[in-house]
Amino acid sequence: MIPIGTFITHSAEETFELAYEIGEGLTASAVFLLQGDLGAGKTVFAKGLAAGLDIDPADVNSPTFTIVNQHDGRLRLYHLDLYRLPDTGGADELRELGLDEMLNESQAVVVIEWPERLDGRVIAAAYRVRLTDQGGDARHVEIRRTNTSS
Ligand code: ADP
Ligand code: MG
Repeated sequence: MIPIGTFITHSAEETFELAYEIGEGLTASAVFLLQGDLGAGKTVFAKGLAAGLDIDPADVNSPTFTIVNQHDGRLRLYHLDLYRLPDTGGADELRELGLDEMLNESQAVVVIEWPERLDGRVIAAAYRVRLTDQGGDARHVEIRRTNTSS
C-alpha cells in the first residue's frame, strides 16, 4: 500500500525507510515522479524504493549522464533523471529513450527525477513525491496521486 499524505523525515535513513516500505509493497507496475531541488533527497528515495524491490541501493545513483538506468530486482526498475534534458523540446529524447515502452511494461517500476522536464506530457496514474528541505536534515515528503481525470 502506498501512503498518501505528507510526512516529515529527520534523516536520509528515514527517507530511505519510507521509500523502502513503499517498494516492498509493490507487486505490479507503478510510476513515481520525484520532485524537489538538488539535494532534496530524490535519489535517496529512489534507493529506498530499489531496496524494497530487492535491488542493491548502492547500484542506484543519479543517472545524470545516462538519463536512464535499468535495475532488475523483484520487479524491473527504470530510474530516470531528466535534469539534463532541455526545458522544452525533450520529446524526441524521451521517445529515443523509450519512455513509452517503459511505461507500458507490465512488471516495471518507473522512477523519474525532474519530471518537470516531461514538458507538459501527462503520465496517468502516477504517484507524485515532492521533497522539500526543511533545514538541517529535515525533509517534507508529500505523496499524492497525479491527476487521473480519465
Ligand atoms: P537529489 O537526488 O534530490 O538531488 P540526493 O538524494 O542525491 O538529492 O541527496 C540528498 C542529500 O541530502 C544526501 O546527501 C542525504 O544524505 C542528505 N539528507 C539529509 N537529510 C535527508 C533526509 N531527511 N532525506 C533525504 N536526504 C537527506
Ligand atoms: Mg538525484
